[in-house]
Amino acid sequence: MKASCRIEELRLRHTFTISRGSEDVARTVIAELEHEGTVGTGEASPSTFYGETPETVVEALRGAAGWLSSATPLHHEHLLAEASERLGKSRAALCALDLAVHDWFGRKVGQPLHRLLGLDPARVPLSTFTIGIDTPEKMVEKIREVPDFPLIKIKVGRPNDVDVVRMLRKETRAAFRVDANCAWTPAEAIEKSRELKALGVEFIEQPLPRESLDAMEEVFVRSALPVVADESSIVPEDVPRLPGKFHGINIKLVKCGGIRPALRMIHLARTLGLRIMIGCMIESSVCVTAGAQIGALVDWLDLDGAALTVNDPYRGMVFDRGRLRLPDGPGLGVSRVRLT
Ligand code: MG
Repeated sequence: MKASCRIEELRLRHTFTISRGSEDVARTVIAELEHEGTVGTGEASPSTFYGETPETVVEALRGAAGWLSSATPLHHEHLLAEASERLGKSRAALCALDLAVHDWFGRKVGQPLHRLLGLDPARVPLSTFTIGIDTPEKMVEKIREVPDFPLIKIKVGRPNDVDVVRMLRKETRAAFRVDANCAWTPAEAIEKSRELKALGVEFIEQPLPRESLDAMEEVFVRSALPVVADESSIVPEDVPRLPGKFHGINIKLVKCGGIRPALRMIHLARTLGLRIMIGCMIESSVCVTAGAQIGALVDWLDLDGAALTVNDPYRGMVFDRGRLRLPDGPGLGVSRVRLT
């Protein structure tokens, strides 16, 4: 049996534009793996923050095509174990391959991934919808567009954070979560946590820079709110360092390398008493639907990446004001609606 990893040039140039006229653009790589007449689709939405770009992902996947030609996705555990060694530096490329292999396997056996994993789609938690960091006026404008969303994630990281959240609090009864994206000092995190708790915030994501793990010990003890690692929690090997510093972790498929390492992080985190979120980048329905397929295993979801785009070329899970409906189709359950 021969596998062939088919990565088409045209599909490496998808660009997804954030909605509402924002100037921000994310580029993501779609990879297809074809074997025995079945095609599996995967995606990488690389971030320069983690040293990856669409170009480095494509280069890594092209480099993998040789050894992939003698592997079979039927034995996906072995294939992905080898891929993890060979693509180790490019977690985004590993994610694209991992998702394609899981999608292929599900299609081959005719079952959705969540069913293969024994998961009840009714247990997928609500997802947040993100209000990006901006002027207070623009953030108020954005939150007014989603008046009936029950969970809102607010990006913070400026001196006026508490004032901004207070302004947003007047607009909605939604539960809030905030993401400081590494921007605070320990003292700032502790002080702001008290005021944010009073404003209905449930937890704080990544208050300090990712390398400030020692300083997180004080924040962990003194914060009025749980703290959740995002930039400090990239791959399974990071998880054992986090108890006593964070209450939970944010897993993103493109950070860790796909479904296989994400499942390892989930089981490790549960063993260590950490709570778990699955998050996303700005990406298509391929990647967010893959995250939702394992969503029933975690406590919190932040899977609005495709809902924030205006040109998603795939159809997958439905994001209905934060309620996620998984597709019934085999594998990841995604289908291409157009090729841009
Ligand atoms: Mg984050």
